[in-house]
Amino acid sequence: MSEFQEIEIVLLPEELNSSEAQIREIEQAVGALNGRPFKMVKRSLDARKKPIIYRCKVQVWNGEIPKDEPSQWHFSPASFSKKVHIIGFGPAGMYAALSLLENGIQPIIWERGKAVQERRRDLAAINKEKKMNPESNYCFGEGGAGTYSDGKLYTRSKKRGDVKRVIQSLIDHGADSRIAIDAHPHIGTNKLPGIIENIRQTILEFGGEIHFDTKLVDVELNGNQIVRIQNQHGNWEEIETLVLATGHSARDIFELFHRRNIFLEAKPFALGLRIEHPQNLIDQIQYKQDERGDDLPPSSYSLVTQAKGNGVFSFCMCPGGIIAPAATAHGEMVVNGWSPSKRNGKFANSGMVVTVNPEHWAHLESDYGSLAALEFQKQIEKRAFDATQSLAAPAQRMEDFIQQRVSSDLPHCSYLPGLVSADLNKILPPFIAESLREGLIDFGKKMRGYRTNEAVLVGVESRTSSPVRIPRDRETMRHLEIVNLYPCGEGPGYAGGIMSAALDGMAAVQAMLQSEFNTNA
Ligand SMILES: Cc1cc2nc3c(=O)[nH]c(=O)nc-3n(C[C@H](O)[C@H](O)[C@H](O)COP(=O)(O)OP(=O)(O)OC[C@H]3O[C@@H](n4cnc5c(N)ncnc54)[C@H](O)[C@@H]3O)c2cc1C
Repeated sequence: MSEFQEIEIVLLPEELNSSEAQIREIEQAVGALNGRPFKMVKRSLDARKKPIIYRCKVQVWNGEIPKDEPSQWHFSPASFSKKVHIIGFGPAGMYAALSLLENGIQPIIWERGKAVQERRRDLAAINKEKKMNPESNYCFGEGGAGTYSDGKLYTRSKKRGDVKRVIQSLIDHGADSRIAIDAHPHIGTNKLPGIIENIRQTILEFGGEIHFDTKLVDVELNGNQIVRIQNQHGNWEEIETLVLATGHSARDIFELFHRRNIFLEAKPFALGLRIEHPQNLIDQIQYKQDERGDDLPPSSYSLVTQAKGNGVFSFCMCPGGIIAPAATAHGEMVVNGWSPSKRNGKFANSGMVVTVNPEHWAHLESDYGSLAALEFQKQIEKRAFDATQSLAAPAQRMEDFIQQRVSSDLPHCSYLPGLVSADLNKILPPFIAESLREGLIDFGKKMRGYRTNEAVLVGVESRTSSPVRIPRDRETMRHLEIVNLYPCGEGPGYAGGIMSAALDGMAAVQAMLQSEFNTNA
């Protein structure tokens, strides 16, 4: 068995893909290679100082490099003796399904939306005709909110599970292998749908069932178990175990659980606006040079501060991206962002949000109980919609927002349904508007040139994370009261992004295997 030595080398951006430059740097670190093979395992751009460099981790092997491990998912077509129902086919539901199949258990998936290809038509209708289908949109449908998302795969918490396993399975299903070595991997909205379709094929091939256009609308309880579930076509199905992976936009699920007295609680989240700058302006600020050139990627940023006692931070920054309409019901306005794999659009957008805590929704508690934070979120989305009465979004230039004056005109923007000039300070609750104004002033000092009336703010960025928690036991991952219910992913409040949702889906199945089926996973 050959062994390797891991070293760090530094390359200039124009040298990143040059094997001559790589060999030069490696030989400087370890002496002559004499034919020893090497492989780059991590690379990360460091633009803090000049010259801008890539820091790369490289393995130098003493013998042949073993072939890349495939994702180590072992499926074999089986006759299943057990089944588990999964509601929602986003990253959490999808990776729960793969984990079940691997363990010889049949996943039966209900997904309210449509398959990727059909869903694409509904997205075109949102962007071109401003017509939104509440069952098929940027959040609902095959692959969940992940399919037409930006596809950034970064997660801060490595404790959640085996990140490498998810990355490798995405590569096995068609993602670029560079996601395995990039410090901040990104797939891109143009590539994700094909990968999701390939994962669907794997699930079907090995015996999983996927039912599109099948929405969970009711549950029947017997003591502390859910015994039957009903879909919107009126059909009831008996179940043994239920994985709930419906995402944070499935408000009807929270309302159903509330109605059925299944324990839920309001939880903090963040809300604000999306900001868009010209990408070349962000490049000039971040790279401190007039032109980015071809060797550097479109630049990004991550900003955080405290203002008026509240946390203010940038969220889901999309270099070269598009602002997307992400509402899931009529009469609400929600924006988010994505970018293609090349990130080659003219604009750079990012969420700019303020933390929302229990004191902010306290006035709604007596009427809405555990749905008070959800109601707080809903009311702002409705106010934003009422400002334009369509999917055209209310918007304001950045400096005009800070100075609290309505913009007399708006810059060109990537948001396809269009913008309408409005005073966003009046749409947002005062504590959010004040914190954002102060936060933006601070960010303008941290990134000189960022504060500019060339930038536009678009409302509202409200679905950063779930405003409801469906509480579960830490160890068994079961709902605290309903013993055959496994809430997982972003909706019940246990994930924030594609990677963490996928890992949570896998973790829920591992916990289920250990407690419910008494197997040693
Ligand atoms: C435009 C956009 C860009 C994003 N960019 C990124 C990014 O770059 N990186 C990142 O990490 N995250 C990003 N996200 C967030 C990411 O997509 C989510 O965090 C992730 O998809 C959550 O996974 P999930 O499986 O928990 O839920 P979801 O992906 O929300 O999936 C839930 C699924 O459940 C289905 N469902 C809901 N209710 C029912 C019901 N009653 N019956 C049956 N099915 C139901 C829905 O249709 C949906 O398919 C983005 C999101 C959007 C909208």
